[in-house]
Amino acid sequence: MQENLTALVESAGIVGAGGAGFPTHVKLNAKADTVIINGAECEPLLRVDQQLMARQAGRLLAALDKIVAHLGAREGVVALKEHYHTAAGALQQELAGYPKLRLHLLGAFYPAGDEQVIVYEVTGKVVPEGGIPIHAGVVVINVETALNVLDAMDGHPVTEKYVTLTGAVRTPKTVRVPLGITVAEALELAGGPSVADYRVVNGGPMMGRLVPLESVITKTTKGLIAVPAGHPLLNSLERPLGVSMRQAATACMQCSLCSEVCPRGLLGHRIQPHKLMRLAAYGSMCDPAQTPMNAYLCCGCRLCEYACVMGLQPWKLNGSLKGILGEQGIRNSLDNKPEHGAPFREYKRYPVHKLIHQLGLSAYDVDAPMEEGALPSYGKVTLPLRQNVGASAEPVVEVGSRVEKGSLIARIPKDKLGANLHASISGTVAAISSDTIVVQA
Ligand code: SF4
Ligand code: SF4
Repeated sequence: MQENLTALVESAGIVGAGGAGFPTHVKLNAKADTVIINGAECEPLLRVDQQLMARQAGRLLAALDKIVAHLGAREGVVALKEHYHTAAGALQQELAGYPKLRLHLLGAFYPAGDEQVIVYEVTGKVVPEGGIPIHAGVVVINVETALNVLDAMDGHPVTEKYVTLTGAVRTPKTVRVPLGITVAEALELAGGPSVADYRVVNGGPMMGRLVPLESVITKTTKGLIAVPAGHPLLNSLERPLGVSMRQAATACMQCSLCSEVCPRGLLGHRIQPHKLMRLAAYGSMCDPAQTPMNAYLCCGCRLCEYACVMGLQPWKLNGSLKGILGEQGIRNSLDNKPEHGAPFREYKRYPVHKLIHQLGLSAYDVDAPMEEGALPSYGKVTLPLRQNVGASAEPVVEVGSRVEKGSLIARIPKDKLGANLHASISGTVAAISSDTIVVQA
């Protein structure tokens, strides 16, 4: 059973659909005490998982039950925000047949969906510094990923993606599209942008990244947010590192508000962004117990910027430090195992509605109703060979090969971490490069 499900999931090319892209078959090749379905969807404006939980509650619990059995887990938990009333109601109605499964309602704070935060909220266990949930006996799986596992059991590999289209678009909505269509094509499904000058964020406004219109939908695309030119979110995302560092050196007043809200610090991990900021001004953290390596404990949630009254960006400094350390071959060696979160943690969790207001996104915090039914048809898809953590997949087709939707077109390199890739439309392989396979209908 264990090998069967792991092999099915590997064969189907399933990766974390919440944005992380970690190959799911690797997560399933373990023993766990608890399985958590991550339904927090804490990135503002995104509406995929909360609607999938409401519409496919029975399928989601069936998937979770199978994963719990597969991992030999004691329990399976669907963790979602307490204000996702429709989803919670739908799940509650289906729970009766599953004695090992339960719901856990999370508060409306950010980042409730951070893997380590959700493990602590649900189980009270702290994932060790530099660790992953399995180090606390927990496997965390995104809602859509779990549904993909059920699809794999029915013989369907990953060829489509649910995406919320929102922000400055005419009709915000959530759609299911083939992998490999462009961002521009996807935005058209929401009536196109409602402003002439805009940029697009792929993912949520907190951890997403700016992408060009010709980039494509992948297995990890959860949302596309059209952001008008001049919006403060763009000022934050586009601020060059050098400017950010100069501002840190001249404007950081060491108030430590960033450290007060840091979700990883609140788990008891030794990250204190205000001390890392001292590097910019003094070239020292002024604390022998802290080193630049503490930056490795940052999850990049960006909350520190919104706690800072000066709008500084400790997260950008941390990202830069991680890059420098990595280039020098210096790996994280911090591995404390706190037993409890920080004192008063529950009072320091950051309200998501306050965050949306600070982001300047209140006007876009609207429904994005899910549209299902027949998929739109597209004449061409461009499928990146790397849509996952790990190595790129290796093509198993040639230019001119005829492929059907769901055909394997690239596979995991031998003995590497990676994910298989399948054609998302039927057609002919039109081009293969070192990065992509193009299929023409
Ligand atoms: S909140 Fe801002 S000003 Fe205060 S310590 Fe952190 S970065 Fe510096
Ligand atoms: S981005 Fe900021 S708040 Fe988030 S984990 Fe890193 S230092 Fe902490």
